[in-house]
Amino acid sequence: MRIDIMTLFPDTVGDMMNESILGRAQERDLIRIEAWQIRDYTTNKQNQVDDYPYGGGHGAVMQADPLYNCWQAICDEVGAPVHTIYMSPCGVTFDQSHARRLRDNYENIILVCGHYEGIDQRFIDECVDEEISIGDFVLTGGEIPAMAVADAVCRLVPGVLGDEECFTDESHWDGTLEYPQYSRPELWHGLAAPKILLSGNHQNVARWRRKQSLLRTYERRPDMYRKLRFETKQEKKLLREMEEEYGQPLDPEKLDLGK
Ligand code: SAM
Repeated sequence: MRIDIMTLFPDTVGDMMNESILGRAQERDLIRIEAWQIRDYTTNKQNQVDDYPYGGGHGAVMQADPLYNCWQAICDEVGAPVHTIYMSPCGVTFDQSHARRLRDNYENIILVCGHYEGIDQRFIDECVDEEISIGDFVLTGGEIPAMAVADAVCRLVPGVLGDEECFTDESHWDGTLEYPQYSRPELWHGLAAPKILLSGNHQNVARWRRKQSLLRTYERRPDMYRKLRFETKQEKKLLREMEEEYGQPLDPEKLDLGK
């Protein structure tokens, strides 16, 4: 998997993407993340990449030409069609299913970071395959969204994390939130870690974690809980157990959890 990020701040992006797990994965050639300076593809002396918006109004708009030249240079270097994503508050909201989809479908991805009022629509029309937002708020630039997307996708590439369980056991993989985590010491500020986690009984630990994960999802994200189904004999038994322990109905099919 190769991700090329078009940005006005390649050093910042590079520093972040070359650290820790992603940095080590790049050293092992499992992934490659490159940051490209859009200013290098201007044809004016000042390396200006923006101009005033047609139609008036405040701010500036990133011009199509430097973006196009930078994009073309990446496509030429990769030598293959590159799935191009513009990071934009007008895009579809990113979640774990998008991270999986991008990992499964594309070997090469370009992430375009906008600034100011955004980028010239004609570049989007000509070169962009999809627009992705990281949430219903507006940031000053696309770098943080691009790094979030690159991180979420790259950590799903086989070998980047220790094993698949590192992400299949996490929040949002199967429509639930993760159970609470504890580490040493056993007693901290008078608060004890749950005894069951110290029991060494893996089956009981797994059962406790599953219940905690379901309860947390029920309490914090009714929108996610509503979509869960307890279909197998084992899952139905788990649900009955939880209903007895917590003294309340928990079957998502019978609960009114709103939209
Ligand atoms: N004028 C634009 C609007 O109202 O939709 C916002 C432009 S924003 C100040 C500058 C750049 O930051 C955008 O071009 C985009 O690349 C990035 N950006 C800001 N918020 C974002 C978000 N929620 N998700 C993804 N990218 C975002």
